[in-house]
Amino acid sequence: MKAARMGASPALEGRTERRLADADPLVAGALDRALSGKDLRLEEVEELLRVSGGELQLLLLTADLVRRKLVGEVATYVVNRNVNHTNICTGSCRFCAFRRPPSHPEAYSLTPQQLRAKVEEAVKMGATEICLQGGLHPDFGLETYLGLLRTIREVSEELHIHAFSPAELDHLSRKEGLPVDEVLKLLKEAGLNSVPGTAAEILSDRVRETICPAKIRTERWVEIVRSCHRRGIPTTSTMMYGTVETPEERARHLLLLREIQRGTGGFTEFVPLPVVPQNTELSRLGITGPTPEDNLRVHAVARLALAGYINHIQASWVKLGPEGARTMLLAGADDLGGTLFEENITREAGGRWGQGMTPQQLRSLILGAGRVPRQRSTLYELLD
Ligand code: SF4
Repeated sequence: MKAARMGASPALEGRTERRLADADPLVAGALDRALSGKDLRLEEVEELLRVSGGELQLLLLTADLVRRKLVGEVATYVVNRNVNHTNICTGSCRFCAFRRPPSHPEAYSLTPQQLRAKVEEAVKMGATEICLQGGLHPDFGLETYLGLLRTIREVSEELHIHAFSPAELDHLSRKEGLPVDEVLKLLKEAGLNSVPGTAAEILSDRVRETICPAKIRTERWVEIVRSCHRRGIPTTSTMMYGTVETPEERARHLLLLREIQRGTGGFTEFVPLPVVPQNTELSRLGITGPTPEDNLRVHAVARLALAGYINHIQASWVKLGPEGARTMLLAGADDLGGTLFEENITREAGGRWGQGMTPQQLRSLILGAGRVPRQRSTLYELLD
């Protein structure tokens, strides 16, 4: 009785066992291995990323069982404030509607006074984290980045600073002619606590060539993330899906993250990010983004593929909407991310879900999924 080994309720055990017997042998075998706590193989992850109908229902049930075994009934959120310090960017990602050229009337870079005011506001509203990311500004070097960290630290020693994507870290390292490890050392000394694992998109150079040809390649993303972990700087991990990638490329992405985590243990969570293409170049290519069914599949498969390695799966309310995020809590997810307070990047791409959520709204979504809401720190310590 594999389900019994997961510690599930007898009713769920029975239902899962009966339905497994009716499924396609490869799907049933993969779910059975997941329930037994074994690592899924590439072909199994790929196959699960293709299921539909009754097999999708079985996948969701299995992901929910595995979630329950690994993290229980608690679902978490973090009280944070998002700040995008500049929208000036030399990049050309085709899924991005946020960047502006330096001479554009809407181009901006926050002054230290503006950043300070936002951080003070965050402290007043009880935030434990500042999430800081921006474009690849052609003039921003180490002094600018260190200055951003110092400004935040002048307001608060306690706030967790979660900042600078691997793409920004690469930009900075090249601009200064310094190895990324040296850049990380200096940023950490100035107060950087953790790094967003964004800019991963799909870790396949074939896909990157189409959707973000000028962006750091897979190998560089992996190198930077491993450097962060070696320096004692945790990162999140992400996957932006729903563009031109195949199920195999999604599966390889998930297993690459698992492999990195096996070596470093530095990922705090995995965040599936459905692409929001409406106002971007991608929509002109006819890309409309993933279906609700695809969202369920990706969250559930991520739970199974990363089980025992990355045990927190975050549903992004910014991308999925509040109801979509709540639904993902029933498909393997156990976290709703942050309050954010000020979200720009997805909104400019066509996101419809506003700039922030209150802790009460996030708690009520979690309760609506029949789970126990808890506020967490960036590193998943429970705070309430
Ligand atoms: S996604 Fe980031 S790096 Fe790419 S164009 Fe937009 S702001 Fe620049």
